[in-house]
Amino acid sequence: MARIASLDAVDLEILRIIAEDCTTPIKEISRRVGISQPMVRKRIRRMKSWGLIKGCRAEVDPDVLGATSYIIIFESQRPEKLDDVLDKFSGVDKLYASTSRSIGVVVFRAENLQDIDSLVKALEDSGCKILKTALLDVEYGKTWIPEAPKERVQPKCAFCQKPIIGKPYIMELDDGTILLFNSKQCAEAYLLLRRGGSG
Ligand SMILES: [Zn+2]
Repeated sequence: MARIASLDAVDLEILRIIAEDCTTPIKEISRRVGISQPMVRKRIRRMKSWGLIKGCRAEVDPDVLGATSYIIIFESQRPEKLDDVLDKFSGVDKLYASTSRSIGVVVFRAENLQDIDSLVKALEDSGCKILKTALLDVEYGKTWIPEAPKERVQPKCAFCQKPIIGKPYIMELDDGTILLFNSKQCAEAYLLLRRGGSG
């Protein structure tokens, strides 16, 4: 990589545009930020390789589907180990947790009251102490984009999600996607998982 990982004003402008609507055509982004389409693509690819742009997802409004939203606030010694439990419930929207404070919040979309009861029970069975369950009727949030350029960003390993210290192990996929890893081991593990997942 010729450039060190940094974010300039043009990168920030691109981020703002795609954070608002990630389906904005490259042509339109190019026009708005004033650089060529290939350069826009290159910058987006670079920001993806750092793990900065994590994805482009549809925002589905659960209200339209008649679902009711809840927050479940709980105490847990190992909130980072709840993936297996939460994976079993399709209504889980988000988990926010603090391992240092042993506390977590689950945002849950329930189609009926049984859904929420079974999730609460599953959390209790895995050692969580439920502090509060409440109907969620206010939501606010937007993607954070820094105000000013960053001299240095900290890329994450595409496999283990840990910050990359030192020289990254770089891999380019067939579709031109560039991925950064902590080590060759992480890259191999990633490929193995990817093959398993797509088969
Ligand atoms: Zn890794």
